[in-house]
Amino acid sequence: MATYIKQLGFVIKNYSDGLGHLVFTNVCLHCNKELVVEERYLCWLCWEGLERTYFELQKTPTKLDQLFWTPIEIKHTCALYFYQKGAVSQSLIRALKYDFKAPLGIYLGAHMATMLNDHPVRNVDAIIPVPIHPRKKFARGYNQSELLARGLAKEWGLPVLKKLVQKKKHNTSQTKNDRFGRWDNVQNMFNTQAEITQYKHVLIVDDVITTGATLAALSQAIKAAAPHVQISLLSFAFTK
Ligand SMILES: [Zn+2]
Repeated sequence: MATYIKQLGFVIKNYSDGLGHLVFTNVCLHCNKELVVEERYLCWLCWEGLERTYFELQKTPTKLDQLFWTPIEIKHTCALYFYQKGAVSQSLIRALKYDFKAPLGIYLGAHMATMLNDHPVRNVDAIIPVPIHPRKKFARGYNQSELLARGLAKEWGLPVLKKLVQKKKHNTSQTKNDRFGRWDNVQNMFNTQAEITQYKHVLIVDDVITTGATLAALSQAIKAAAPHVQISLLSFAFTK
């Protein structure tokens, strides 16, 4: 009996050790190196490897500003890091979008807030995360831009408006091959609620900006519903 209990104890100990390893082992999202206690999500070297845009220090219009040289008036724009295939930024965004790492989104949002504490993108009344279709949100479990927005909002003491702008339908534009059909589809992507008129200046938050087409469509939808509302844009990453 005593031997049995001893063996059972051994099995439980081994099982819990294994489980502990499973639950508590943290590896770098980019290089897979085991993280030390002070490191979160990335090892120190990989955090250093994130390529900064320094858009916030640039006096002339940035590459991001240049995307919005359209009739839509955007007040301020900023993106913290460059997004590139194979780079640390891609590993972070992949984990944020597909690996069920919801706390990572809030962490990165708070990180953005700390880095941009003195930037004019902070001078807004509310934050609007780029909406995704409810079906996509259900499949993924969350909207990654909403997590970034929550992290930012907590640091800056701002509300996150989740319901005032919503995605209308799945973007089926890819099935249409002509350029104009696609643009028309992007333009009709969002529904806005009348309450948007209560705000003076909103900050739209996204994870990665590539062409800016979605943000332009979203800004247009907001302007159409509330022409007086000023719009600024902020993203974690900007495609190089
Ligand atoms: Zn690493």
